[in-house]
Amino acid sequence: DSWFSHVPEAPRDPILGVTEKFLADTNPQKINLGVGAYRDDSGQPVVLKSVREAERRVAGSHFMEYLPIAGHRQFCEDSVKLAYGEDSPVLKNKQVAMLQSLSGTGSCRLSAEFQGHWLPGSTIYIPTPTWANHLNIWRDAHVAIEQYPYYKPETRGLDFERMCDFLSKAPAGSAVLLHACAHNPTGVDPTTEQWRELSKLLKAKTLLPILDCAYQGFASGDCDRDAQAIRIFAEDGHRMMLCQSFAKNMGLYGQRVGCWSIVCEDEKEAKAVESQMKALARPMYSNPPLFGALLVHNILADKALKQQWLGEVKEMAERIISMRTLLRQNLEALGSPLSWNHITDQIGMFCYTGLAPEQVDKLTAEHSIYLTRNGRISMAGVNTNNVARLAEAIHKWGL
Ligand code: PLP
Repeated sequence: DSWFSHVPEAPRDPILGVTEKFLADTNPQKINLGVGAYRDDSGQPVVLKSVREAERRVAGSHFMEYLPIAGHRQFCEDSVKLAYGEDSPVLKNKQVAMLQSLSGTGSCRLSAEFQGHWLPGSTIYIPTPTWANHLNIWRDAHVAIEQYPYYKPETRGLDFERMCDFLSKAPAGSAVLLHACAHNPTGVDPTTEQWRELSKLLKAKTLLPILDCAYQGFASGDCDRDAQAIRIFAEDGHRMMLCQSFAKNMGLYGQRVGCWSIVCEDEKEAKAVESQMKALARPMYSNPPLFGALLVHNILADKALKQQWLGEVKEMAERIISMRTLLRQNLEALGSPLSWNHITDQIGMFCYTGLAPEQVDKLTAEHSIYLTRNGRISMAGVNTNNVARLAEAIHKWGL
């Protein structure tokens, strides 16, 4: 008998499974709407010009060296400024403990570990639905999970009332996971007014916000606007955690570059907390990778390059927004009796179409259109060449 004969095969990741099936399809007109990575109008991955320039500047430097456990300090400082704002009082007061992380996933995992270690017995409240990995992450960190209502299928919008009602009953001392912008998979975000209400509610109920910010700039095209939730919570004096990723907004997916920060009471507390953040990272992976952090630092610390990058994020966001308009127009032009307002109301990389799993199966089997069975489409996979075909298929099977 082998040591490992008792090990069963793990269930497949639903998103990676979609990509595998897509790759195996020989139809030249196949469309991949599964993967959450940006594509240009010809369906190709993009390396941003600002990233190419940063790469040129980094080339030849000592980017093979080890970083400290907390990563590249200037990168972290640039990164938190982008999120909390240049003039943020919590940054000025040195209340923020920070550490370079392995992209958004790594930030979330460290948040979960920190919660498990330092807020023992506390529960994490996660929205329904959410990015599926959130559930794996807090499960593996052995933190108790509750799920709060978020999405209302009837309106294909936010179920704000039920969400607030549910959270108001959470025991004090619990943590609440929120998507800072461009909620994945629904594309449905609270309004500014609703963020303010949520912030007040969490404060009144002594709940700890954990903000997952994987799409800053990608939702509206404006990095400041997309940081509104973070800034409202910081302004309201929350102690909070923030998980930043540069995968999407800089197109650095495979470089694994992110920043994890915790807003503390004061500088002294931040120092202690930061030392414990490092103590968590050290036995997991020792220190984070250098190259991606250097790219981001080179962009954010250089006024002109940062300006160029902001323009490129806007361009990506605007292409996605224009594809939403085009998809909706195509469906309406086909005489669809259904309302497709949610395609343009929802924001960010994804659109939660409302298609049922059986309808998704038809799109795949009959039209070689690949998406997850929850009806989520990655708008990044939609372009001027395939939008008409996509609309026809949704029109045919989506009733
Ligand atoms: N959080 C959310 C909500 C996401 O959608 C994603 C990526 O899809 C991530 C975190 C993590 O991405 P990464 O680890 O590549 O930064």
